[in-house]
Amino acid sequence: MSKVPEMFGSMVFNDRKMQERLPKSTYKALKKTVQDGEPIDLSVANVVANAMKDWAIELGCTHYTHWFQPMTGVTAEKHDSFIQPNGDGVIMEFSGKELIKGEPDASSFPSGGIRATFEARGYTTWDPTSPAFVRDGTLYIPTAFCSYTGEVLDKKTPLLRSMERISNEAVKLLHLIGRTDITRVVTTVGPEQEYFLIDREMYNRREDLKLTGRTLFGAKAPKGQELDDHYFGSIKTRVAAFMRELDEELWKLGVLAKTKHNEVAPSQHELAPIFSTSNIATDHNELTMEIMKKIAEKHGLVCLLHEKPFAGVNGSGKHNNWSLSANTGENLLKPGKHPETNLQFQLFLAAVVKAVHEYQDLLRITVASAGNDHRLGAHEAPPAIISMYLGDDLGALVDAIIEGVDYVSPGKLKVETGVDVLPDFRKDTSDRNRTSPFAFTGNKFEFRALGSSLNIACPNYMLNTMVAEELSQFSEELEGAEDMDSAVKALVKRVFTEHKDIIFNGDNYAEEWVEEAKRRGLLNLKSLPDAFAHFMDKKNVDLFVKHNICTAAEFRARYEIEMETYCKQLNIEALTMIDMAKKNITPAVTAFVRELTETALAKKALSAAIPTSVEEELIMSLSNKLVCFVKKTSELEEAVIKASEYSADGLEYARYFRNTVFAIMQELRAVGDSMETETAADFWPYPSYSELLFGV
Ligand code: ADP
Ligand code: MG
Repeated sequence: MSKVPEMFGSMVFNDRKMQERLPKSTYKALKKTVQDGEPIDLSVANVVANAMKDWAIELGCTHYTHWFQPMTGVTAEKHDSFIQPNGDGVIMEFSGKELIKGEPDASSFPSGGIRATFEARGYTTWDPTSPAFVRDGTLYIPTAFCSYTGEVLDKKTPLLRSMERISNEAVKLLHLIGRTDITRVVTTVGPEQEYFLIDREMYNRREDLKLTGRTLFGAKAPKGQELDDHYFGSIKTRVAAFMRELDEELWKLGVLAKTKHNEVAPSQHELAPIFSTSNIATDHNELTMEIMKKIAEKHGLVCLLHEKPFAGVNGSGKHNNWSLSANTGENLLKPGKHPETNLQFQLFLAAVVKAVHEYQDLLRITVASAGNDHRLGAHEAPPAIISMYLGDDLGALVDAIIEGVDYVSPGKLKVETGVDVLPDFRKDTSDRNRTSPFAFTGNKFEFRALGSSLNIACPNYMLNTMVAEELSQFSEELEGAEDMDSAVKALVKRVFTEHKDIIFNGDNYAEEWVEEAKRRGLLNLKSLPDAFAHFMDKKNVDLFVKHNICTAAEFRARYEIEMETYCKQLNIEALTMIDMAKKNITPAVTAFVRELTETALAKKALSAAIPTSVEEELIMSLSNKLVCFVKKTSELEEAVIKASEYSADGLEYARYFRNTVFAIMQELRAVGDSMETETAADFWPYPSYSELLFGV
């Protein structure tokens, strides 16, 4: 299997294999389910299950698993073997019922209090729109996860529902404007994944990385990312070997891994796939993250997906490229040659602009996490203020529409390279604005505020639902219009006028933008607790309930789960710091000071003429810092104990962690890092930033 086309999808029960292995009628029925969202029949499922099993066994499988995405933030699986007793022996069987429905014990998955432990039953149901695949001798079946009483307990179900909703609303609107040829619209996503690779041996010596995914102590290395020499730099042999194997594993699983390069920070890299339908892109991104970790292990590396593993250099994010594609194959967010007369495009653009303006809080909420708090609002890409970048071209179009004047397109300009052997080429009409959290990039929007470890289902179901809502409002307004053209024009003009404040084409990092955004009434939600204060706002709950994405109780459950996770993560970080401080750092500094003291005393004993000022200064400095360090450690301990006695509501509790616990952690770290710079490397208990960041 040396050839990529043969390798690609070889571990996936994809369309081609279904065609080969299923009777025509079964294949057709399954296709109908996948394409038109029709429910599946048990007799069809039986045939599909059997064919899947035979195929999986040929690939060496003994087990199958319903693979799902509970609210934990990682995927879950429980493996069952195919064996069925038969006389003295066994046969390998897999029924349609087993394919359609699984029943993992759900009691330990977070439910946000919507379900008591005695009602722990949970069901997984096959998602036939995402193909099954084989990994490590097991047949993986992508599924959705709900409770016995039907409550949604996962991230996949809301995503699937939101895809239905946006399709229905988009089709309705398109029909109103005469596009009756379109019968289904899908959302497409291409997530660009950033990650760090570090040496496993170094990693194993860092308690903080092992327990929390990020370094809680660590003085800056003499070199960081200031030379920009890592970005797009040539890829080191060991990393290249990892990337090669990763690509191959992903291709076998049908993941369209396309682009790989070094990122800004030392040891940081990126992988981007070619986009696919949202739910498949979600499954594939989850798979990509899992496989990255596994393959790193084989190369003596560790893949860090935390949003901020290292202070002082960039953290990792994930760009969520999002668009709408009709069953006719056309991209609904493509402006075409003449966006000024393309009313269909204008309508969809207006819907996204209005959605992002009205639900900026939800977009901020959906990317909020303890890890991402280190990036958003902390002077790192992008800022916590949600705004949109349309580029000069579309920006001018929106202005022209608002002012009711003619729009003149600058057209595509030719870039002359000035070297005869190099071809001249046409320039994109919109340049990139890398500082914008939500940028139009030619025929899609790029939502850039996601953290690297986030399950992309969440931002995507939020995005789909809020845009579905705007499309439904547009349809309501346009229904029964006598002159559709002028009604659409009037609507688009009004929407752009009312929502132009969300559009910002300038530098999002500039201080002036913070002020300007405030004047425009845009939100600046710097941390998770700030953002979550808006989670349960009536307009947000109403949105999800109205579109049947989840009930108010389920929505609240999500709020509770995320907030609890945030507090637990900060709690673990604080406890880890205390552990490191007491068991390793304080003893290490003490030992070094003793060594210095012994040296100074020995020198003095030898001869009073030998200078001991260096030792004495260091002893003085480190001893003073150590006093402060131990005091801060106790302060942190007390703050954590106080947290366990906290009885306030979730939001207050989260704020306490952010404002009190986290603040002390920062202070403790500052003293610790300062001691690291004065302590001999032999004595310091942890690998340094130089070793971690430049060790591969
Ligand atoms: P960059 O952000 O570096 O400019 P690209 O423009 O190459 O990267 O694309 C980034 C991602 O956007 C890729 O994963 C690509 O497949 C995806 N993408 C391209 N077109 C669409 C689309 N219509 N819908 C969703 N994602 C898309
Ligand atoms: Mg990008």
